[in-house]
Amino acid sequence: MNDLNVIHADILASARDHGEPMQGKGQGELHLIEDGAVAIRNGVIACAGPTKQVLRDAGEDAPTIDGTGCTVLPGLVESHSHPVFSGNRHHEYGMRIKGLSGRAIRKSGGGIWSTILNTRNAPDQALMDNALNAFQNILAGGAATLEVKSGYGLTTGQELRLLRILNQAATQTPLDIVITFLGAHIAPQDGPSPETYAAEVRDEMLPKVMAQGIAQFHDITCETGDFSADLAADLLAASRKAGMPARVHADASAHSFGWRTAVEGGAVSADHLTYTPDSEIRDLGPCRTIATLLPIAEQFYLDNRRANGRLFIETGVPVAIATDFCSSFQATSLTLTIAMACSWFRLTPAEAVIGATLNAAYALGLQQNKGSLDRGKHGDLTILSCSHPDEIATRIGAPLVRQVVSRGKVIFNSPSFRP
Ligand SMILES: [Zn+2]
Repeated sequence: MNDLNVIHADILASARDHGEPMQGKGQGELHLIEDGAVAIRNGVIACAGPTKQVLRDAGEDAPTIDGTGCTVLPGLVESHSHPVFSGNRHHEYGMRIKGLSGRAIRKSGGGIWSTILNTRNAPDQALMDNALNAFQNILAGGAATLEVKSGYGLTTGQELRLLRILNQAATQTPLDIVITFLGAHIAPQDGPSPETYAAEVRDEMLPKVMAQGIAQFHDITCETGDFSADLAADLLAASRKAGMPARVHADASAHSFGWRTAVEGGAVSADHLTYTPDSEIRDLGPCRTIATLLPIAEQFYLDNRRANGRLFIETGVPVAIATDFCSSFQATSLTLTIAMACSWFRLTPAEAVIGATLNAAYALGLQQNKGSLDRGKHGDLTILSCSHPDEIATRIGAPLVRQVVSRGKVIFNSPSFRP
């Protein structure tokens, strides 16, 4: 089963997947079809195009959604989140506004280290409930696929526990979940040096994660004060040897050679890139590593810097966009994140939409099944209450997400929409 027709969309918008992530001028090649339709059969896309043509080719004999007044996109892909933790740090935002740095807040006993202590002490069920709550809100924000990371445990036992909880949570949500092992999130503040801890990640955690088959990616922070470029490169090499694709938290708070380390280490993506200098982007040139930009994170952290999204695109680097839902701030709306990517990085709405669909699918290795409306991919759709994808960027904060479809099944209906 799982057949569905979505017809008469004001605009059907999708990139065409040519077998590689969209880069350079291609980043803006969002194909728009007026009075568009998608036919999903057995959970996969049978055809997409003008309504007349789709109904002629696929037939009318399927449950049908009328997309009048709507923009229909491929199911959005959220490619960077940290939803498994305990504790609430909203009070730190006022401290940041007053000028305290993240590192200063960490030193005073708050910040991410307090989340790690809270998370270590939280029961499994509480962590699971928090994760599932985040999943539901991220789904309501328009995502059909979600990448989730461990990283608030920072011991072998705790990191494995968080990955087990994420695996269990993945069975209790209609979202497609991709699980990432982030042992090297920050350098622990309770003993081991970054070198000793990175060796534990490499020699104890990674082999156990591999043996238990509880993660699809290995994420490594490359940041001055946490893990140096040498340590991150060593962990990337261990990942390559183990056969687990890697991604990098790069240059989030200082220039740390994170972009270079990620590209040279063959990472699938490098995320943040706030402090990556233009010269490093130009030196490395076009590449397959996806630059995942996090506009809401940059605005929240109040740095006087932003990733040079335009230069990444002009250099021929594929760009993805993600929320970075985490213990510091809980951004759940990928549509709002697309809007923020436009104003913050000067991406066009088309470039940002591709960043949250096709390029994000490539960043998760899911391009065979996700990220575009090409025939044979999963029947995942995000249906928005607006008549053009540009309106994602102009109707800031409007509840645009009307429905989310995963493999032909509606997995989210907006409370304000009566089907
Ligand atoms: Zn992150």
